Amino acid sequence: MSVTKHLLDLFRVDKQLLGLRHRLEAAERFLSQQAAQLTELERLKADLTGQVRQLRAAAANDEGEAQRLEAKMAQIREQMNQTKTAKEYQALVTELNTFKTQKGEFEERAIESMGRIEAAEARLKEIAEQHGERTRIVAKAKADRDERDAEIKDRVAELTAQRSDLTKAIPAANLTEFEHLVRTRGDEAMAHIEMIDRRAHEGSCSACMMAIPVEALSALMTGKLTRCPSCRCFLYIEESLMTAGEEPPRKRKSKAKKEEAAKAQ
Ligand SMILES: [Zn+2]
Repeated sequence: MSVTKHLLDLFRVDKQLLGLRHRLEAAERFLSQQAAQLTELERLKADLTGQVRQLRAAAANDEGEAQRLEAKMAQIREQMNQTKTAKEYQALVTELNTFKTQKGEFEERAIESMGRIEAAEARLKEIAEQHGERTRIVAKAKADRDERDAEIKDRVAELTAQRSDLTKAIPAANLTEFEHLVRTRGDEAMAHIEMIDRRAHEGSCSACMMAIPVEALSALMTGKLTRCPSCRCFLYIEESLMTAGEEPPRKRKSKAKKEEAAKAQ
């Protein structure tokens, strides 16, 4: 077998490996996207829970202050009932009003906090629902990833073994060139010859569409490793053409001549 044939086999094994890995990578990408969204929801959940805790503490504090002032105001009202002079009474009224204003401020703040707690809790409920939903999606994505991994595992091992066998038959320099081509050109590292006229040894590179000189095509037909002079990919002749091509036109002509000769006899 020619180096070209070995490289072509390797190229095909690599393509299969790449295809299998792409499927797995797609599943892995989806899983990591979903997991990132779940982490973000967890962060939001923790944030909101912290906010609610702080607001509750602030509201409880304000309510406590309001109650303390209420108790003071009750005391003042008691004193007002017992005052003898109008002046004392007026002083108590002023004090009562001051406390009343302060108490009103604490109550207002407590109500405001309660409103914010309500809003935060409603949002928390939404987030908790989204979190539950996302948790299910992540579990499913993880199962899909594992399933794909299991599906391709044996085939990947098989192809990897094949690959290693194939590389043993390829000269190191050619293998390095090939691997460099795969890295830089991917699917166009190797290209078949598009035959224009097989008898006239006329063909073009199926990757870059440029015509291949007759000498290059002849060299390829004799099994010599050949690169496209334009795009530098490794060229090959498709198997179906190769079997036909093994019998060059010249030979067939002589065969025809022989037949003619046989007829003439
Ligand atoms: Zn080319």
